[in-house]
Amino acid sequence: MSNVDLANNEAKQLNLPQVIRVSDFADRMGVSVAKVVAELMNNGVMATVNEQIDFDTASIIGAEFGFEIVAEPEGEEQRPNTGRVNRDSNLAQTRPPIVAVMGHVDHGKTSLLDSIRESNVAAGESGGITQHIGAYQVTKNKRTITFLDTPGHEAFSALRAHGAKRADVAIIVVAADDGVKPQTKEAIEHAKSAGVSMVVAINKIDKDGADQDRVKQELSEAGLTPDDWGGDTPCVPVSAKTKAGLDKLLDVVLLVADIVDPKADFETLSTGVVIESHLDTGRGPVASLLVQNGTLRPGDWIVAGNTYGKLRSMDNFLGQKIKQATPAMPAVVAGLKDLPAFGDWFEQVQSEKIAKDWFIAQQRKNSTKSLNTAKTMTSTDISKAVVDGRVKELGVIVKADTQGSLESLLNSLELVGNDEVRVKIVSSGLGDITESDINAAVAAHAIVLGFNISINGPVNQLSKRSGVDFKLYKIIYELLDDVRDWLSSLLAPEEIETELAQLKVLGLFKTTKQKVVTGGKVITGKITPGLELKILHAGKQVGEGKLLSLQKDKQAAKEVTEGEECGLEVATAAPIELNDTMVFVKRESRARSL
Ligand code: GDP
Repeated sequence: MSNVDLANNEAKQLNLPQVIRVSDFADRMGVSVAKVVAELMNNGVMATVNEQIDFDTASIIGAEFGFEIVAEPEGEEQRPNTGRVNRDSNLAQTRPPIVAVMGHVDHGKTSLLDSIRESNVAAGESGGITQHIGAYQVTKNKRTITFLDTPGHEAFSALRAHGAKRADVAIIVVAADDGVKPQTKEAIEHAKSAGVSMVVAINKIDKDGADQDRVKQELSEAGLTPDDWGGDTPCVPVSAKTKAGLDKLLDVVLLVADIVDPKADFETLSTGVVIESHLDTGRGPVASLLVQNGTLRPGDWIVAGNTYGKLRSMDNFLGQKIKQATPAMPAVVAGLKDLPAFGDWFEQVQSEKIAKDWFIAQQRKNSTKSLNTAKTMTSTDISKAVVDGRVKELGVIVKADTQGSLESLLNSLELVGNDEVRVKIVSSGLGDITESDINAAVAAHAIVLGFNISINGPVNQLSKRSGVDFKLYKIIYELLDDVRDWLSSLLAPEEIETELAQLKVLGLFKTTKQKVVTGGKVITGKITPGLELKILHAGKQVGEGKLLSLQKDKQAAKEVTEGEECGLEVATAAPIELNDTMVFVKRESRARSL
């Protein structure tokens, strides 16, 4: 308990809304606003009386004042139907599998996606379609498969990481002439942490130097044992160039999908994820949505990311107008007020009013002061992250949006620190902070640092429950500055000793094991009881002690200055002799920085 007095130890219940003004919050608790603002400050939240704080922040601060904060039921109209996929629902039906293609750069992901698309999108339809909308669908054995097809090379790796989360099956592409490479391993990790089933496509088998056995050997070493080697990872040799093996690859994907048996409720309000968005000169904000549950139709109201709107038009991946988009179907929609971001959730709501109310609440929330965003890590948080040893280490998990920024971050982080303190990269990867990042952070006592990525609500909750600290950045230098500050806080403080006075020992009156009563003359400076001292014999230090009391003219004295004689009672075990010098010092510890 900090600056708060509690009448009794029992927590009083207080119902609060999701967002509350600081002054109202103080009012409801019956505590002065100044105290609440101060407590917020103690927790790293700089909020003024009129600013709003979110529920989680209010819960933590409320607890400091002895309240158990309970969420007020929200008005129904405030909350859009979440309609999450409930595979146990009686209404759940099998939906097409969603497939992501992942792997090392240049191993042929784009070529493979293009070849599959060319070979399997009904003839005549694919011609002329050059625009990638983030996903497409193919038909194989009269069944539909949705492929996530991430456009653009720039954010490529991050998109792939997102892809793993959205997919049911991941195709890990490995070039037969190059083998398992760092990004292959990274892709395997992404898929594993997203709990996605994997199929390996050994690509470029048409090339000289293709060596499937070597690839299989390396896959086994990376933890994926091929099924023909007694493991459970199907490996299909393919060539994106000659299209050899593509049929087989799709068959295997369908087999794996049968085991996963992805389901969705087709009848409920639609929910899903934004897979692409751009501003179209004619149509305004245009977004590609991948429906995950329910059925979306033109005219529906949706909320997406930080925006909302009524769907004016809806096209499929071939640019054809459609009347509905069912689960696993990508749809290009116009009508949103603003651009949602890649990876944002969308949810269908029943009316314009719900969408608008939600939007207003969302805006309020975004201007809300919160512990999550305004978080400053304290030295206790940081010390939790230290692995004891000769060198103090700050364990970090680094997540970034692109391979390029991740690499430059990792390189820079390695350079922060010295021979006493350093950063230990527990793990690193692309994409948003996930549950497994938080779990890894718990296991390794690490903190999670994100660059140009985000964290969703449930993972944020998990981080709080598990006591894991994370911080998100948009500027690399700010991240590095923080890390430098945290490492500095781990440096042992510097001991600074200042000489205040010297005294020459002129008489010895009484010596016990722990104490000496002596007389002497102050040569320089001023001495006062309580000072620490060093005892020098012929210029060499023989011990240390503390001045217990002082006497001047047989009277207790508060200080004795240069040129004066005095009696001293010194706590020390050191042998003191006549003519020794006592050097009186002040010792301070001062924080160091890198
Ligand atoms: P990505 O970076 O993984 O998307 O790789 P790309 O699809 O851009 O392919 C990289 C290079 O490999 C390109 O020059 C492709 O033409 C080539 N490539 C891709 N697949 C094959 C294949 O099966 N055989 C051969 N010979 N070349 C391929």
